[in-house]
Amino acid sequence: MAGILTRPARQHDSKPAATEFSWNAWVNNLHGFAENLGEWGFYLLLALLMISLWATVKYKPFKLSHRLMSVAYLLIVVHSVLLLKHAYWGEPIYYLTLGFAFIGSIAAMYSLLGFVGRSNRHAAVVVSTRYFPQAETMELILKPNSAWQGHTAGQFAYLQFGNEDPHPFTIVSGTNDPEIRFLIKALGDFTTGLYERVKIGDAVTVEGPYGRVNFDLNKPQIWIAGGVGIAAFFAILETLKGKTNHPQIDLFYCNRGIDNHLADELYSLTQQAGVRLNVIDTLHSPRLNIDHIATQCGNVNDYNFYFCGPEIFSKTLTKALGAHSFDIEKNYHEELFVMR
Ligand SMILES: Cc1cc2nc3c(=O)[nH]c(=O)nc-3n(C[C@H](O)[C@H](O)[C@H](O)COP(=O)(O)OP(=O)(O)OC[C@H]3O[C@@H](n4cnc5c(N)ncnc54)[C@H](O)[C@@H]3O)c2cc1C
Repeated sequence: MAGILTRPARQHDSKPAATEFSWNAWVNNLHGFAENLGEWGFYLLLALLMISLWATVKYKPFKLSHRLMSVAYLLIVVHSVLLLKHAYWGEPIYYLTLGFAFIGSIAAMYSLLGFVGRSNRHAAVVVSTRYFPQAETMELILKPNSAWQGHTAGQFAYLQFGNEDPHPFTIVSGTNDPEIRFLIKALGDFTTGLYERVKIGDAVTVEGPYGRVNFDLNKPQIWIAGGVGIAAFFAILETLKGKTNHPQIDLFYCNRGIDNHLADELYSLTQQAGVRLNVIDTLHSPRLNIDHIATQCGNVNDYNFYFCGPEIFSKTLTKALGAHSFDIEKNYHEELFVMR
């Protein structure tokens, strides 16, 4: 036993009694206060945890609830430090607790003051915008400042226009491009009308890049994009340009209404990358299902699946794959474009 947690024998040390007594008394006076803080910190933490797990809570209050967890943490830290047993004072456990409380409190303040991600923020300007009406999607091209370190295929960045909240979008340009390109679908308060609000030359803050997608190119693949989920495959297609000696890859792009410009670009990219493209316009054709994929590609168990699109679409596919004894855990990878 290291003896870290055992209660130490009372010491009759030679410290000046008056100093120890006053510190002791001060801490003793704060006992009730510390107990209340701990209780409130605990209730706050419980409430915030419930908000986080409650799927109907909108993104903004959800984000605020995450930030407020730092406040709950600080309350609980003050409680724990003030109520640390007197018998532990001066022992290793005392210094360990203080050390962890100090580091944790710095991290909590860092988060509370909005410093998280600050070193990854870069100034950028809007170079061009374009709108694809059938896909209700805008293209945004930005020129980030020279501190931008580039990205890898599949990564995303937060874009912030003025004082609006930052929103995450996948980088669709090639990994070596000096300009970064995004495809943004109008889905809610911020994205609807973005095309009209953003002008060439506007300043944008880009935070990132974040995320990691490992496309295992040693095995045949089936890539499925629902709607703007196609954004997740553009950058990898760019990196595959001219490298056609990889196992078979089939890309299924499904959308309600297909924009010709986007489809043409995708066709050209997939041709150069040696990827077979299947465009499914659900306005005119049945929705994609596993039987359709199996008819075209053969045994689905021979493939790795990469999906990006709406959750309901992914659930339908995984349910059908389950019926084929497909190893979903190992061979099915999904990105649903949601933060929670
Ligand atoms: C990793 C990632 C990559 C994404 N890539 C793309 C992309 O390439 N193209 C594209 O069109 N969309 C992408 N999205 C989705 C995009 O971020 C949301 O559609 C957008 O933020 C919605 O904002 P809104 O206010 O218009 O819609 P709202 O109706 O307000 O929100 C719709 C949903 O979007 C999410 N959301 C809202 N605000 C934020 C925020 N500030 N941060 C994070 N999520 C938020 C919430 O889940 C919310 O329920 C991506 C999302 C993630 C998580």
